[in-house]
Amino acid sequence: MRRIYMDHNATTPLREEVLEAMLPYLREEFGNASSPHSFGIRARKAIEAAREKVAAALGAQPREIVFTGCGTEADNQAIKGVAFADRGKGDHLITSRVEHKAVLETCQYLEKQGFRATYLPVDEYGLVSPADVAAAITDRTLLASVMFANNEVGTVQPVAEIAQVCREKGVYLHTDAIQAVGKLPLDVHQLGVDLLSLSAHKFYGPKGVGVLYVRKGVKIDPLLHGGHQEWGQRAATENVAGIVGLGRAIELRLDEMDAEATRLAALRDRLYEGLVGRIDHIHLNGHPIQRLPGTLNVSFEYIEGEGIIMGLDMAGVAVSSGSACTSGSLEPSHVLLAMGVHPAVAQGSIRFSLGRENTEADVDTVVETLPPIVERLRAMSMFSAQTPFPEEAGPRRR
Ligand code: PLP
Repeated sequence: MRRIYMDHNATTPLREEVLEAMLPYLREEFGNASSPHSFGIRARKAIEAAREKVAAALGAQPREIVFTGCGTEADNQAIKGVAFADRGKGDHLITSRVEHKAVLETCQYLEKQGFRATYLPVDEYGLVSPADVAAAITDRTLLASVMFANNEVGTVQPVAEIAQVCREKGVYLHTDAIQAVGKLPLDVHQLGVDLLSLSAHKFYGPKGVGVLYVRKGVKIDPLLHGGHQEWGQRAATENVAGIVGLGRAIELRLDEMDAEATRLAALRDRLYEGLVGRIDHIHLNGHPIQRLPGTLNVSFEYIEGEGIIMGLDMAGVAVSSGSACTSGSLEPSHVLLAMGVHPAVAQGSIRFSLGRENTEADVDTVVETLPPIVERLRAMSMFSAQTPFPEEAGPRRR
């Protein structure tokens, strides 16, 4: 059975070219980049070459690129870094209700440390309003953190407009662009952001390596202490192979980005149209246009997403319900709830996230495979189109 992977927002396969680039640094080029001898110098050169590639991809200066241990760390470092560095100037943070937990739980942690946080609502498509950001800013606000593109529904936020609001009010803006790299153009100057997070494993690079872009002049406290690496912003011996892989992956991804975005958007739409034509009572989640090219999030009424995932997995198709970090929790997605989706409908949601290896044939296989699974689950479900909706809920959206 050919297995079809449609969970690229959870993680992507490592590209062969990226592995090739990394291998020497896992074998003979094992030097510590801080060592003064030739082993160290070669490792340092490899890191700096990767830094230049990342900087070029973002329109940044190499000195503004800090390598981290993952995307979660980059988000933590951005938010805690500004909060602790600027503690004397204020104590308020702004974010949105649809952020990844790496941002939400960091803000919740800071609340326990005496900071205050505002969690902005979103509209039915998952969009944050720049006017809401403006209204939430006070003279105690240090930072706003609004993601570039949502990992569950793919909605792309108006980050440039939000950045303008923040700039006018003298507040830093961080954006978690972890789902957007290699899918949409990202230029830190055009966007006007101060901090931006990336993670290599979302764009066919290795796991366990990320980037925080820190605009020149922005002061952040480090998370890790104990070394001078990354100009004292991240103490730890660098993951040379991972950093080299990240650099190669971003370079390759940018070369193919435009063509891939067009191809994936067409596949995504073919998948949705195929499903809508064969299955009743389904809803698209996320913005219909302002959305990542390969992301399709759909709610199937009267059944639970976990059942669909298991049915599809047995048929050789890997998808997920919402974020990989929270799937399995059986709680409805906080993103869908924030968008006003009824909890019972949110439970029946599936995220298809398409990537490089997916083809039209894969999409057609899923369109054929899924309807009988949904039909079987609905036949077993206590709810159906004939019975009242849970709690006589009225609208499918609250
Ligand atoms: N932020 C977003 C939007 C994500 O999708 C992810 C990955 O799931 C993360 C943060 C965390 O990144 P990492 O897995 O590199 O820690």
